[in-house]
Amino acid sequence: MSDELIIYLDGEYVKKSEAKISVFDHGVLYGDGVFEGIRAYNGRIFKCKEHIDRIYAAAKAIMLEIPMTKDEMKEVLLETCRRNNLRDAYIRLVVTRGTGDLGLSPTKCPKPTVFCIASTITLYPPEMYEKGMPVITAAQRRNKATIVDPQIKSLNYLNNILAKIEANRAGVPEAIMLNHDGIVAECTGDNIFIVKDGVIYTPPIHVGILDGITRRTVIDLAKEMGIEVYEKEFTLFNVYNADECFLTGTAAEAIAVTQVDGRVIGDGVAGPITKKLLEAFQVYANSHGEPIYN
Ligand code: PMP
Repeated sequence: MSDELIIYLDGEYVKKSEAKISVFDHGVLYGDGVFEGIRAYNGRIFKCKEHIDRIYAAAKAIMLEIPMTKDEMKEVLLETCRRNNLRDAYIRLVVTRGTGDLGLSPTKCPKPTVFCIASTITLYPPEMYEKGMPVITAAQRRNKATIVDPQIKSLNYLNNILAKIEANRAGVPEAIMLNHDGIVAECTGDNIFIVKDGVIYTPPIHVGILDGITRRTVIDLAKEMGIEVYEKEFTLFNVYNADECFLTGTAAEAIAVTQVDGRVIGDGVAGPITKKLLEAFQVYANSHGEPIYN
């Protein structure tokens, strides 16, 4: 058997080397499409329904009709993991407007392109999951919700990529993005939380963020532990003076932030609430989800 990845592409499972899409695909030409990043832990797809619901919601917002049912999409996710013998995976699901002509208009794109890649990812260096990581604040602001709503996980990620380039140039793995009013929004691929006096704060959706599935999970876990959590606006001042700070995301999972723009956060190590939540998240993620193999 070949050890080449098997990719789902428009109804077929093909080898990575054969998984090709047209240069006229509007996903490529215009970033016209939507995507999801999903994880499988321990033989189960984590929050499978939530990810499928979110991509359908994003597709609806951009008037893109996904050419399959939600159940069929679930089967694509499961089968792509099976075909690659994966129990732990990072899954990328993409629906583009499809192949059209060189004009912007999607009317010339009769059929959306759907593909799914199941592979692995390590977003940040492993030692940072132990020790925490430094971040900067990007000069690049997060998209305003009145322009392209960050709740739409669209293929147009240039806004976040520009912030990521700032992080790379500063020699740190991630950047905080502020909204248009200077309120803390999120990072380039993760949501942000701070802890002050035993209480957790995270920016509300209306600030202009992606409604992260890991974010929701962590909020629920914290509440179950009896920790107060507020979705509340805050500024960089609150981040610099927080006792703890951490980020959540499917690719990132949950990771402590120990320095922001050169300011040490709390004691400069992953704090006690952060550690408790990171552990609880790992336990929860490894024991919940849609089984891949029966
Ligand atoms: N914000 C942005 C901009 C993201 O791209 C992601 C990753 N999908 C997140 C937050 C975290 O969301 P989730 O927990 O659903 O992966």
